Order: sequence, then C-alpha cells, then structure tokens
Amino acid sequence: MGLLGKKESCPICGGKLNMFKTKIKGGISICEKCAFDINMSKNMLQFHDVDAIKEHLKYRQENRAIFETFQPTQEVKSGNFFIRVDAYKKLWYHFVEKNPKNPPVYRFDEIADYEILEDGESIAKGGLGRAVAGGILFGGVGSIVGAATGGKKSKSVIREMKLRISLTNKYNNQILVDLVPPGIAAKQGLVLYNSYKKVENEFKSLLDFMCNQATPISPEASPYVSAADEIKKYKELLDMGAISPEEYEAKKKQLLAQ
Ligand SMILES: [Zn+2]
Repeated sequence: MGLLGKKESCPICGGKLNMFKTKIKGGISICEKCAFDINMSKNMLQFHDVDAIKEHLKYRQENRAIFETFQPTQEVKSGNFFIRVDAYKKLWYHFVEKNPKNPPVYRFDEIADYEILEDGESIAKGGLGRAVAGGILFGGVGSIVGAATGGKKSKSVIREMKLRISLTNKYNNQILVDLVPPGIAAKQGLVLYNSYKKVENEFKSLLDFMCNQATPISPEASPYVSAADEIKKYKELLDMGAISPEEYEAKKKQLLAQ
C-alpha cells in the first residue's frame, strides 16, 4: 500500500505490515517476523494459507521449546553436516550451521529407515520401518537392526557417499545429504578412503543406536520389567561413554524407587 493507502496488518500476528512483507497462498501478505519464524521457502509459502501457516508456526514454537531443553549426549559430523542426539529424551536433530537456531527435532522412533549409499549403491541399512516390513515386529531389538543390515561389499573406489533417512514426521519425510564432497575418487588403501569409511561407520553406529533405543515399551509389561529395561538402556549408555557412572547410578536408584 502507498502512503495514503489503508493500513494493512499481518493475518497471523496482527502486527503492521511494512515493505518486508511476504506473500502466501491467495496473494495474502504476512509480516517479516512471521515469515522468519515459519522458516519455509518462498516457493513453499505460496502453497500455504493463513490456517496452514498458523498451524506450522505452532509446530515451530513447540519445536523451539523442545530444542531449548535438548541436552546433547552424542554427536557425529562430516564436514558441516552434524547429527546431534539427546539419548535421555530419545531425540535428535541434524544441522549444517555452527549454532542452529530452531532446527526440527525428531524422535528416535520417527526414523522409518536409513541407508548409506556409495556411488548410488546401498552398503548399509537399518531402521524400524524396514524391520516391521520384514515381519520381525516384536523380536529382540538387537536382532531387528542386525537383520536389516545388508552384507553389501563396500566399493574399492568411492566417488560419492550419501546418507538417506526416511522419516515418519508430518513436516519432513526424507533427509538426503552428501557425507563427503562428491566427485573425488577415494581409492581403497588410501588415507582418504579410510577417512570415508570412518565417517560411514560413525553415522551408521549412531543411527543403529537410535533405532535400537527407539523401541516402544510394550503396555503389558509390568512396572518392574519396564524399570529393568530402562536400567539396561542406561547401562548401554554408560558402556558407550555417553553418561558418567554417577549419572548411571542416580538413574538406576530413581528407576528402582518407582
Ligand atoms: Zn506477523
């Protein structure tokens, strides 16, 4: 609107619109702050109406609250790409910038499956969705991930290594990233090749860990069994160095007192 035009307000927050407004579905404009908070590309915004934007903003605010209580216990990285895990709350997120502001936080059990691809060929797989599809619904957790891991031979020259994670999340169903800069031929026996395999193993270990820990506790289980299961999980965390012996003892005491 020009200087003499009627005052426009943001249909999301009610604030005044200035020149930095952004268009959404139907040519409606929202304010700069709301557009920033929603963190969606301009291309995506034009497919969302006021109600959809409001719903997404609510999700982003809830996500921020979860993110603020996130306590990292493990992290793997390759280049700028990180996956960070909160093993207590069974949450994780991925990011590329140094200090992520409000990255989408996912639960462990939102990982339907994952795959690491060398030059387009799957060499490591795992996940919950895959195991269910294979019909091993209530088997031992360790065996689920183990059974889902293909015995594919690694390539002798790697030019590209991608990680694909399928999610059961409402707002994102796939993460696909390069774990190494594509196009450089890393030959078996060379230092670069070994560093690629190290990256691959680190991501695989963390993803298998999350899939292992994601298993929901069956509702029929007695409280005692649940406590035992929980203690077992914390023992695993202790063994892998994610928590201290003091933290483990405190958690054990707490679980046994329930
Ligand atoms: Zn607004």
